[in-house]
Amino acid sequence: MENCIFCKIIMGEIPSRKVYEDKDSVAFLDIHPANPGHTLVMPKKHAENIFDADDELLGRVIVAAKVISKKIKESLNADGINVIQNNGRHAGQIVNHIHFHIIPRFANDTVIISYPQIKMEDKDFEEIQKKLIESERKVQKNWEMDLM
Ligand code: 5GP
Ligand code: ZN
Repeated sequence: MENCIFCKIIMGEIPSRKVYEDKDSVAFLDIHPANPGHTLVMPKKHAENIFDADDELLGRVIVAAKVISKKIKESLNADGINVIQNNGRHAGQIVNHIHFHIIPRFANDTVIISYPQIKMEDKDFEEIQKKLIESERKVQKNWEMDLM
């Protein structure tokens, strides 16, 4: 994809510190790491986000993310790993080529991953649950129609 910085990195037009590669996926060190070893894993083929990425490809990328997470944990003696994936500007996505952040965590590190705990009444939970179940039913219906 033209004007995609990660496509340019994947094509070797922009240098990166690659740490993993297979047929479908690639991983390199984030240029502004939250911790040493902060790695970005992504499909080689351009997709913008979780909404438009091909299912099978996404499956292979998440398996690559697992392999890399284990390698990072072992080789850098991390105490834990955060896997983060942002979709859309308002969710913090800056580069529009789907990627997973693999962030090694160490006891007493300075990383802050924060979200509030909002207050919701039981009826609010119920309303949300209904909306989600309804949309899941629609997906199910489309899926059943696909089979016919
Ligand atoms: P996002 O906010 O889109 O989930 O994360 C984008 C990440 O890409 C950021 O953490 C940023 O530091 C990283 N990044 C942006 N440009 C480059 C680059 O040219 N090279 C590398 N290695 N990382 C980049
Ligand atoms: Zn791209």
